[in-house]
Amino acid sequence: MTAELIDGKAIAASVRADVTTAAAEVSEILGRSPTLATVLVGEDPASEVYIRNKHAACAEVGIESVHRSLSADIDEGELVALVESMSVDPEIDGILVQLPLPSGLDEDRVIGAISPDKDVDGLTTSNAGLLATGRPGLVPCTPAGVIEMLDRIGFELEGAEAVVIGRSQLVGRPLVSLLLQRNATVTVCHSRTRDLAATCRRADLVIAAVGVPGLVGPDFIKPGATVIDVGINRTEDGLVGDVEFEPVAEVAGAITPVPGGVGPMTIAMLLANTVSASRPRD
Ligand code: NAD
Repeated sequence: MTAELIDGKAIAASVRADVTTAAAEVSEILGRSPTLATVLVGEDPASEVYIRNKHAACAEVGIESVHRSLSADIDEGELVALVESMSVDPEIDGILVQLPLPSGLDEDRVIGAISPDKDVDGLTTSNAGLLATGRPGLVPCTPAGVIEMLDRIGFELEGAEAVVIGRSQLVGRPLVSLLLQRNATVTVCHSRTRDLAATCRRADLVIAAVGVPGLVGPDFIKPGATVIDVGINRTEDGLVGDVEFEPVAEVAGAITPVPGGVGPMTIAMLLANTVSASRPRD
């Protein structure tokens, strides 16, 4: 392997150290710790693990967390009422509703009940609109983590040719807005893009957020380019990304592994967003 390995775990640890300092500062001002509320509906084992990890991460940096587990057959109105009550609760700074919700529950309606200033996942249309129009707001954690990671390795975004593969609300679209804010030249690719490899080969920065194992091969990469693999795919060989890691690492200048790349940054940015949401506004 010739590419530099971008160590997401180490970068996330340094973000968490900064968040610990910020959480202590805010605790002094508020007279209590910044507080995250999580809501889990149903009994999906993967979601239960994600929630546990998020609570453990909160405890490590001095963020208080509270949790509500609800049955999959909860009435949608009751769920919305719970989220609305959290939205006006002065002791709660951030709200995270673990997705996906069980079928039959309208995710847009439930997310819409989160007050935008407590929307630490950046999923409300209000925060999406602020981001799309270049205004400050709470930004989805994974795209925010990608930018933070690039900043911390000293990648110069200004003027860089960036290709984002994927246009989801959660990752691809917010990434495009964040990259534009930083004056990168951005191309978005998706399932209908005609020549994905040729488009990616122009890029100084390739970010794959697709969910197709090994989609990005060495023929997609300009020698020396930086490759960020957001994909998380469970296969018979274990957890893999969207990038064919070994062959691409022979061409790229820098690359994130899966696991241990973008994943740890996502949780770190959730913590950062929670502390930022807890800061008293003038
Ligand atoms: P999504 O399914 O909502 O979107 C996938 C996007 O990829 C779509 O825009 C689609 O047009 C595009 N696409 C699909 N097939 C394609 C192809 N063959 N060529 C080009 N584009 C194609 O997924 P998502 O929520 O954006 O997640 C993407 C991946 O990132 C998944 O593997 C997910 O598990 C992972 N993810 C990781 C983290 C993390 O913390 N590391 C967080 C969120 C998502």
